[in-house]
Amino acid sequence: MKNLVILGGGYGGMKILSELLPNHLPSDVSITLIDRVPYHCLKTEYYALAAGTISDKEVRVAFPEHPRLQIKYGEITGIDTKVNQVLMKNADPIVYDDLVIGLGCEDKYHDVPGAAEFTYSIQSIEKARRTYSVLNNLGPGSVVAIVGAGLSGVELASELSESREDLQIKLFDRGKHILSSFPERLSKYVENWFVRNNVEIINESNITKVEEGRLFNHDNPIDCDVIVWTAGIQANQIVRQMDGEKDRLGRLIVTPHHHLPNDEHVFIVGDCASAPHAPSAQLAEGQAEQIVEVLKKRWNGEPLPAAFPTIKLKGVLGSLGKKQGFGVMADRAITGRVARILKSGILWMYKFHNG
Ligand SMILES: Cc1cc2nc3c(=O)[nH]c(=O)nc-3n(C[C@H](O)[C@H](O)[C@H](O)COP(=O)(O)OP(=O)(O)OC[C@H]3O[C@@H](n4cnc5c(N)ncnc54)[C@H](O)[C@@H]3O)c2cc1C
Repeated sequence: MKNLVILGGGYGGMKILSELLPNHLPSDVSITLIDRVPYHCLKTEYYALAAGTISDKEVRVAFPEHPRLQIKYGEITGIDTKVNQVLMKNADPIVYDDLVIGLGCEDKYHDVPGAAEFTYSIQSIEKARRTYSVLNNLGPGSVVAIVGAGLSGVELASELSESREDLQIKLFDRGKHILSSFPERLSKYVENWFVRNNVEIINESNITKVEEGRLFNHDNPIDCDVIVWTAGIQANQIVRQMDGEKDRLGRLIVTPHHHLPNDEHVFIVGDCASAPHAPSAQLAEGQAEQIVEVLKKRWNGEPLPAAFPTIKLKGVLGSLGKKQGFGVMADRAITGRVARILKSGILWMYKFHNG
């Protein structure tokens, strides 16, 4: 029996499972999935979990069941590719024949002193829960700073402003306009929404230091009750610690078949894999589909294509609370209610197919 070990039951890991189970797993292959959380978590919804507008249960999806799928819950501490082993905290190492690493990403603090210690996060389920707890226990009129106005910072700020109209929300961003990776028309639309909804935007900011209850913008102190960091991500530290070439986000460089250049049995998926695109759940799923193609062909003794077609991404949709949204679909900017309905529809479909 060969053992395919999948590290992380996120969007990439889950897609590999759903492509191989129930019918495409050869009879001599078993799968071991390892995650610290006993269910698949919908990370794209952590902004709403933290804002208190959805319950914890709504971001959980059960892992599939299959006689040849073993699920191990625990903390992965490292990978020893020389002896094909995954190292676990307080448990024996797990041996693999093929390995898929899909451990997602973490916050990147850009060496800002105090940022790691004194800010809250929405990059993991545990951290999003802590952020929920602190935000929702704030007294009336409290000041919340959100550092970084990319997609997750914007979604958190807008959701929180609907959830807690009494809070003073300040959204700090480096750029001249928020959402720097989106067309300017969309950035301006979202900025206007924030003006109407009493979220203060501080453009061209530069957070130079964070202390407990205080951040420094261009060295000027600003008192805040809670500071949430959404200003950058990097690959999971397990991946950052591995040997091998990485990009500026610490993501491992992979071959066109998604494995390490010097080890064809170690595949990387999702936010841990270097790619020409920004990390996203969609990208993780596209990579997972191609990894499954490689595995199936190898298991069947078939030749591999020299390369796969470029992964086509459908676009990006963001929410502005529960009624409005924005995004780019098929290269067209969309805003308002339609964008929000589309986003909710995509989430519904995802849960329907995986639930
Ligand atoms: C607020 C927010 C909104 C987003 N919105 C969108 C969106 O609209 N569209 C989109 O495409 N993308 C969106 N993203 C990005 C998307 O969530 C990620 O790109 C995606 O989750 C990456 O999938 P993954 O499989 O690489 O990792 P993840 O889905 O992050 O899964 C990683 C898994 O690894 C487990 N894990 C990590 N470390 C360990 C360890 N040491 N031991 C054991 N288990 C471990 C975790 O528990 C987790 O289950 C959003 C992200 C955020 C934060």
